[in-house]
Amino acid sequence: MIIVFKPHATEANVNEVSSLIRKLGYEPRIIKGIENTVIGAVGDEILHQSLERLKNYEFIQNVLPIQKSYKLASREYHQENTAVKIGRELIGAGHVQVIAGPCAVESYEQMKQVTKDLVATGVKIIRGGAFKPRTSPYAFQGLGEKGLEILQAMKDEFGVGVVTEVVGVTHIDRIAETADCLQIGARNCQNYHLLEMVSKAEKPVLLKRGMSTNVSEWLAAAEYLLVNGCPDVILCERGIRTFETATRNTLDIGAVAVAKQESHFPVVVDPSHAAGKVSLVLPLAKAALAAGADGLLVESHPEPVNACSDAAQQIKSDEFYMFMDELKDYIKIAKKEKENK
Ligand code: PEP
Ligand code: MN
Repeated sequence: MIIVFKPHATEANVNEVSSLIRKLGYEPRIIKGIENTVIGAVGDEILHQSLERLKNYEFIQNVLPIQKSYKLASREYHQENTAVKIGRELIGAGHVQVIAGPCAVESYEQMKQVTKDLVATGVKIIRGGAFKPRTSPYAFQGLGEKGLEILQAMKDEFGVGVVTEVVGVTHIDRIAETADCLQIGARNCQNYHLLEMVSKAEKPVLLKRGMSTNVSEWLAAAEYLLVNGCPDVILCERGIRTFETATRNTLDIGAVAVAKQESHFPVVVDPSHAAGKVSLVLPLAKAALAAGADGLLVESHPEPVNACSDAAQQIKSDEFYMFMDELKDYIKIAKKEKENK
């Protein structure tokens, strides 16, 4: 921790704080500036008691942490880009994936059609919620177990990888039997008990950024997965809540660049939940790849008008080839840039 004294602090104040922090197990290093005196408290901030209460002294200006709330997720810990395997496919470290599928699994016929259309465009990993986190309890909640059976059928028939969301601890084991990657949705980004339990499933986890979670909180949430035994994390930016209403959520492209700099894990972008309407999905997808994303998570449905959820933002699956075609060069560049790093 760094303790910054106010300009009027006396030598006695500095000595008092020095001996207090020494008692708490830190080694104080005093730096005397022209205006302010600073103490660097050297010691493991995670193992030792927090010094934040020093903020209450009237002669102290600020107390700042030196250590980040994430270590294993950080680039300082692991400099090379990490690739994560979803089923048979790699993502990250030069491997770019477009993961696509409907918001929710609605029927066998719907999934078969969408998977067939998407596989024809080169998609190798499909998404689809069997358990849906809906704002209203009266809205479609997903097919649950039946949805997982349908996702299993898609794996068996098309050989695709499957990403699907976990909304509660009671379903983790069953979902892990079918899914190749477990999705933690925006609403659960900081549900630490769920993160801990999902880490034990021995599956990669796609961690969406919460709608009001800052980047360091998002990376600290990833750290929960890592310290609890899940080494394979994929970060997903899906837009945040701001004052802007022109898009459903504000896609934070800056956060993609920051997450790529701060962490070695793959970062994907979900342009669908950020856009909220289909005409904005492509430009946001391009921006994501241009900013360094390792892939996309995109919603697509055979008949969006009849979708049980998120009807406005899903790309019609028989038109998905056009979306992929528009992205071709961006994907190529994304792969090349990573090879050069
Ligand atoms: C989803 O991907 O289906 C979803 C519910 O998204 P989010 O958690 O980003 O709202
Ligand atoms: Mn959705």
